[in-house]
Amino acid sequence: MISLVIPIYNEEQVIDELLRRSLAALEKTGQAFEVIMVDDGSTDGSLQKLLQVHNEDKRVKVLELSRNFGHQAAFTAGLRQSLGDYTVMMDGDLQDMPELIGPMYEKMMSGQYDIVNGYRTSRAETGFRAFLFMVFHKLFAFILDNREAENMGNFSMLNRPALEALKQLKEKTRYLPGLRSYVGFRQGSLDYDREARAEGKAKMRLKHLMGLAADAIFSFSRLPIKVCFYLGLVGIVVFGLAGIVLLFEEPTTPLTHDYKSILVGLYFLGSVQLAFIGIIGEYVFKGYKETQNRPMYFVRKAYVD
Ligand code: UDP
Ligand code: MG
Repeated sequence: MISLVIPIYNEEQVIDELLRRSLAALEKTGQAFEVIMVDDGSTDGSLQKLLQVHNEDKRVKVLELSRNFGHQAAFTAGLRQSLGDYTVMMDGDLQDMPELIGPMYEKMMSGQYDIVNGYRTSRAETGFRAFLFMVFHKLFAFILDNREAENMGNFSMLNRPALEALKQLKEKTRYLPGLRSYVGFRQGSLDYDREARAEGKAKMRLKHLMGLAADAIFSFSRLPIKVCFYLGLVGIVVFGLAGIVLLFEEPTTPLTHDYKSILVGLYFLGSVQLAFIGIIGEYVFKGYKETQNRPMYFVRKAYVD
C-alpha cells in the first residue's frame, strides 16, 4: 500500500484539483493506497471540503489538528498515521505535482532505494523570496555536507524501514528534509521542476520561513557557536598583541582627546557580545523546548475509517 501525506492550511481553492489529480496518480500505480490529509487548523472551508471527500471515499482520511501547529508538525502527524509500505510526503498547494508519485514509485520499485527524494531542477519562486531560499539551501547543504540537499524539500517517498527510522527522531525542533537526510539508508532522487502554487498565497509567511530556517540550522549545526568562538579567538590574539605593543609605546596624544574611539570600541564589543549571547540563547532555548517535552501537535478528531 502507498500512503500519501499532505498538510493543509487554508487551501480551500486547491483541494478539489489536488485530490482529483492525487487520486488519479495513485490509481495509476495499480496499488492499494490511502491519502492522509492533515488539516493544520485551517480557518477557511478546507476542513469541510476534506470531510465531504472523506464521506464519499474512505481512502481519503483526515486528521484534524486542534489548531495551527505549522507545516512540519502537520507532516509529522500524517507520517505517524501512515500505514503504507511506501509513504509519500507532498505539499498541498500543487507545487509538487501529484503526477510524479508514479515515477517515484517506479524508482522505488527498482529496489535500489529506500528513500526517493524529489530533486528540484527549477523553482517557481522569484525575487527576494527566491534569493532567501537559495541562500538557505546553499548554507544548509553545506552544513549537512550533502550537495544534493540543496535542491530537496519535503516531496519524497520513503519505504517502511526508512519511515520507521524517521519516526524515531522525536525532537520538537524539526526540519524534516534535514532529518530525512540524517537517517541515511539508500537515497535516490527524481528530478522535477517545481511549479508555482496553484491558487492563493504561500501560507508560510516570511517570518515562518525564517523560523524554519533557524530550526534547520540550529538543530543540525554548531556552526553559529563556532563562528563566535573563532571570532573571539581572533580578537584575543589581535588585541592581545596590540595591548603588548601599546605597553611599550609612549602616549603621544592626551587620552581625553581620543575618547570617541574608545567609546566606539566599547560599544562595538558590547554589541558583538550581545549578538553572541543571542546565538547561544537560541541553543539554550531549543534545549529548553526539548525538556518541556510538549507534544508537537494535538489531534482534535481523526477521520480514518
Ligand atoms: N501548511 C501547513 N501549515 C502551515 C503552513 C502551511 O500545513 O502553518 C501547508 C500548506 O497548506 C501547504 C504546505 O504546507 O500545503 C506548504 O506551504 P506553503 O506553500 O505556504 O509553503 P512554501 O511553498 O512557501 O514553502
Ligand atoms: Mg508552497
